[in-house]
Amino acid sequence: MSLRSGSHARAATKRAGEWLRDHQNAIRWLQWIIVVAYVLLLIVPVLAPMPTRLSHIWSDAVLFAQFAFWGIWWPFVLVSMVLVGRSWCGLFCPEGALAEAVSRHSLARAIPRWMKWKGWPFVAFACTTIYGQMVSVYQYPKPVIIVLGGSTLAAVTVGFLYGRDKRVWCRYLCPVNGVFALLSKLAPLHYRVDKANWVAWRRVPGGPTPFVNCAPLVPIRTMQGGSACHMCGRCAGFKQAVALEIRSPSHEIVNVAGDEPKPWETFLIVFGLMGLAAGAFQWASSPLYVTARQHIAEWLVEHAGTALIEPRLPWWILTNYPDQNDMMTPLDGALMIAYVLAIACLTTMAVGTALAFATRALGAFQAAPLHHLAQCLIPMAGCGVFLGLSMTTVTLLRREGLSLGFVDAVRACLLLGSALWCLWLAWKVSARYSRSIGRRLVAMVGIAAAVLFGAGNWWLLFWVW
Ligand code: SF4
Repeated sequence: MSLRSGSHARAATKRAGEWLRDHQNAIRWLQWIIVVAYVLLLIVPVLAPMPTRLSHIWSDAVLFAQFAFWGIWWPFVLVSMVLVGRSWCGLFCPEGALAEAVSRHSLARAIPRWMKWKGWPFVAFACTTIYGQMVSVYQYPKPVIIVLGGSTLAAVTVGFLYGRDKRVWCRYLCPVNGVFALLSKLAPLHYRVDKANWVAWRRVPGGPTPFVNCAPLVPIRTMQGGSACHMCGRCAGFKQAVALEIRSPSHEIVNVAGDEPKPWETFLIVFGLMGLAAGAFQWASSPLYVTARQHIAEWLVEHAGTALIEPRLPWWILTNYPDQNDMMTPLDGALMIAYVLAIACLTTMAVGTALAFATRALGAFQAAPLHHLAQCLIPMAGCGVFLGLSMTTVTLLRREGLSLGFVDAVRACLLLGSALWCLWLAWKVSARYSRSIGRRLVAMVGIAAAVLFGAGNWWLLFWVW
């Protein structure tokens, strides 16, 4: 990019941020339209009959909502995090918009300390992922009401109790907050705070004191990265120090993410995204799961009766749709959870060992470089979850008769691209901890192994099973 076109791009980006700031009413209207669409997508499929073999996405409410939520909405919201940061949260998310609207009339109670626990993003993601598999949330509309509708109800309740015009739910408890915070670190756009301008700024004598309502409670003055920012644009131009800017997609991981070790983020990347999510998408196709289930079922019939191999539990605990011939027994459910947790633990051990090796290769073992190197795995972790979610997209489109023969090639390219991105990030990060090229190269062996372990889960699912 030439100097001139670079400065034009910078100016246009800055103006885009200010445009958002100046059109907050239009954004609110857009949010209400999305809220209406969201509520319709939640409720109408529950009232509609289940699709038959002859039903189509465009003519059947259940299939349409399934495709909208799981085929388009969720996979591409993840993609949007990497492209434009958390703009989804700040500009479009119906849950955040509702929570914020309610928070304007809140009881204004103090936010309890337990709510600020840093482990919630991990715990909420893990529980939602496993529960989603138990009730087959990607297949049936009633579980969608519980998972998505329940989350929205909780967001509104938290907003009403503690809101004070803020998005308390989004900040502390939203089940995808942690994932979005990680992926948005890769975005080439962010609101940058110029500290010198902030300090130098003086109010015009007699002029109004500027105020900005940052709904997700970001401490704007000290904000360095984009992972907590919802990109709403309200602070654009604040004290002539905040501006929407273009940055290198590697910038935040390399230069910001290592300043403060975040063990919960490491846990979410390795155990949650690379392990648990992979296991959740994998179990139904896994020959290990099928074989274990068969052996245990045979043993139970011989020794303990049939209670655990009969689908007795209601649909909101375990999938139970006799008319669709789709039922999970307590054995299925317990084995599924065991399988998903086992994959998560094995992945964590393998990736954790590789990360520890890379950290040690850079010098004395310390937590800070380990957590920083773990951040370099975000492209692989995010890519895997996108591929897992987009399986529904592919399944539904194939059901409509599209052959999609290119899908395997696209999956391979995405995995390869994200693996190379991880390695590039790790190479840059390693320079912060060692000047020795030899040490950095040895560390890269560990990172390459971690990336391979992560990719291996998806390779098994897409190409082996
Ligand atoms: S820091 Fe807060 S106010 Fe500024 S863009 Fe981000 S979310 Fe909006």
